Amino acid sequence: MLPATPTKRRKAAPADEQGGLRMTRQRQEVYETLLAHRDHPTATDVFLRVKDRLPNISLATVYNCLEVLVEHQLVRQVNFEREPSRFCPNLEQHGHFHDRGTGTILDVKFKKGVKLSDVLDLPPGAVVQDIEINLRGLLRTT
Ligand SMILES: [Zn+2]
Repeated sequence: MLPATPTKRRKAAPADEQGGLRMTRQRQEVYETLLAHRDHPTATDVFLRVKDRLPNISLATVYNCLEVLVEHQLVRQVNFEREPSRFCPNLEQHGHFHDRGTGTILDVKFKKGVKLSDVLDLPPGAVVQDIEINLRGLLRTT
């Protein structure tokens, strides 16, 4: 069964601290960039977007910011084999669908009322603490 604890929601507040994390200007900009376009960008995508507002930021710094945001669970790192990591600010429990045709990655939510234990035969006593569901395929356009 999924843990009963509700998903933590955090606002994209301009607060100095979020989740115990000191929000530097760079971290804030990186985080806001992820919230603004929830298309699961790579670190390089984020770098190119943030550069408009922080022209002196380096790719290494963006990597650093992303790492810290992931560590503090404000952002999820999404890995598809042999692809650069993508970053997702959606903290709800969800999976990802990777469209091999366009490279697009979409959030995939659980259907309402469906629990993991309804579809998976989990070992007795298993308490799922984290899920990672990655689906690959093609999005057919009709
Ligand atoms: Zn996502």
